[in-house]
Amino acid sequence: MNTKRVIVYILIFIALFILACSNESVNNSANGSGDADSDSDGDSDGDTDSDSDTDSDGDSDGDTDSDSDTDSDGDSDGDTDSDSDTDSDTDSDSDTDTDSDTDTDSDSDTESDTATDTATDSDTDNCDDLPDPDPPWLADFQKEIMAKLTGEEAINGVNLSDRYSSANRETARKFLADSLEELGYDPQYHDYGSGKNVYAILEATEDSDAYILFGGHYDGVSGTTAANDNASGTVITLSLARYLLDVNCRSVNVMIAFFDEEERGLLGSDAMAKWLKTENYNVISVHTVDMMAWDSDEDRTVEIEQPDGDLLNFYMDAAAVGGLTMPLVETSSGGTDHVAFRKNGYTAVGLCEEWAGGDTTPHYHSSSDTYDTVHFEYMKSTTTLVNYVFAYQLQPGKAAELMAENMTYQTEAQQVHQGPYPNVR
Ligand SMILES: [Zn+2]
Repeated sequence: MNTKRVIVYILIFIALFILACSNESVNNSANGSGDADSDSDGDSDGDTDSDSDTDSDGDSDGDTDSDSDTDSDGDSDGDTDSDSDTDSDTDSDSDTDTDSDTDTDSDSDTESDTATDTATDSDTDNCDDLPDPDPPWLADFQKEIMAKLTGEEAINGVNLSDRYSSANRETARKFLADSLEELGYDPQYHDYGSGKNVYAILEATEDSDAYILFGGHYDGVSGTTAANDNASGTVITLSLARYLLDVNCRSVNVMIAFFDEEERGLLGSDAMAKWLKTENYNVISVHTVDMMAWDSDEDRTVEIEQPDGDLLNFYMDAAAVGGLTMPLVETSSGGTDHVAFRKNGYTAVGLCEEWAGGDTTPHYHSSSDTYDTVHFEYMKSTTTLVNYVFAYQLQPGKAAELMAENMTYQTEAQQVHQGPYPNVR
């Protein structure tokens, strides 16, 4: 009897408890649906705002932003869905509101995300799409840099009469460092005592410790503004630095360099080569350019000087792939910076107007080597070759393949090209 009564009491108590709880839960869910509405609205509004902000920035900034957008959108969509499921028992009106709000928000999110994703995919996935090696900015950029280096235009109030004196070389290298910085590089000086090289690094987009180096000497002989020899090579080097910023897939690092005191016996490039060895930089090839602004026969020929290993074939292959038609001629010319690198054990090549072929400036090391004598179309034509060869070389696998061929061939190449070399130019 007692036990039964106790059980009955317990059952009645449980029934009352359940009833009380269900009332309370109705109240709570009624209140809660208001909360849930304001929460889910607040969340999705907040997400939408921050997304649209990030997206519009992210178009120019890059890939990581747009990825995190997609994740946070997916999360907030999932949350909103499970909330509206819980509500559906109690309040059908507020559910309908919530759903329609959520749908509208998620639709606009999806559209903007899809657009961003599509752009991102085409940027990163297709490494074969190289930027135009003759970009729209190139001609004006080259004229401006040439004008500054040759005193045609002032650099901070100074019109350079030469790039021979200590003061003028200082002005020139400061201008080059500033120009690199304006492009977004972190320029460095390599001070070796009697002079200073300027260099900057464009890091690979893949994990790599390998470097390819491109450079030209910025100094000149005395008594001339040294437009052809070698403001032209300096302009091409800076143009490459700018162009490579648009190459999205880079399998190795690039070092951009401006050498000092080439005219005093390859002092800058020799010091740089020795320094790179001391610092254990893994430089897989060195490309230098000297005198590239004369083309009286208008054939756009580029001389390829002492190309180590398979570098000549590589230049020819790249030119063919890029649809570039200027003739490339191998020569044994030396007397300039690539010689210093080769002497220090690096795989190297030099680029020049037709020095060996005879179509070279008559203003060589003379006061008449001025801005007015520069063949800008020819200089630009060669720049498209340099741009494309480097973009091509940076594609996944290309530089490594080239390095393997050069490593096995270099000793033979050095023997073939042993001096004596022509005078320093
Ligand atoms: Zn020179």
